[in-house]
Amino acid sequence: MAISRRTFIKASVAGAAGISALGFNLQPAQAAVRQLKIRNAKEYRTVCPYCAVGCGTIAYVHGSGGLNTTNTVIHVEGDPDSPINGGTLCPKGASQMQLAISPRLRHQPLLRRAGAADWEEVSWEEAMTWFARRFKDTRDATFEERDEQGNTVNRCTGIGWVGSATVSNEDAYLISKTMRAMGLVYYDHQARI
Ligand code: SF4
Repeated sequence: MAISRRTFIKASVAGAAGISALGFNLQPAQAAVRQLKIRNAKEYRTVCPYCAVGCGTIAYVHGSGGLNTTNTVIHVEGDPDSPINGGTLCPKGASQMQLAISPRLRHQPLLRRAGAADWEEVSWEEAMTWFARRFKDTRDATFEERDEQGNTVNRCTGIGWVGSATVSNEDAYLISKTMRAMGLVYYDHQARI
């Protein structure tokens, strides 16, 4: 059967509105497919971690939590009760479940040694030891107790910290308190840049 451009557009518009080209109401079927997808999933209200807008999100997690099961995020959508986004998410936020399940996620730290061209996977122990050593050495070398006028400043100007938009509020709070306690003054967050 030849389909004209006009017929195709009419059928598409009708389909999008839940009515098939043959006049069937597709809305119950569409709702049933959605129900099948999230049936038995636990619903968690959360906040998109990607930017400062802070859109409300509902994450659907499958898995009973039993010993031989693994909880998995199976679907994420905007929270319609959120006064910020009213159920919508931008394309970046709509893909946020990849933060939890993407096979491209790295689970080991990477280190590029001085002079090396490539990154290499190292243990957490090595990465933390490397970081702590350099943090301490740099802070000791650049910490200022007083400024030129003799005012007490207790600041560390040799280290800058840029927070990640993919950390939770609790992580961000902890990072902020820790870096302030270390005397850092060059301190910012990715979402503000
Ligand atoms: S959904 Fe988009 S706009 Fe909303 S917080 Fe996430 S990244 Fe920002």
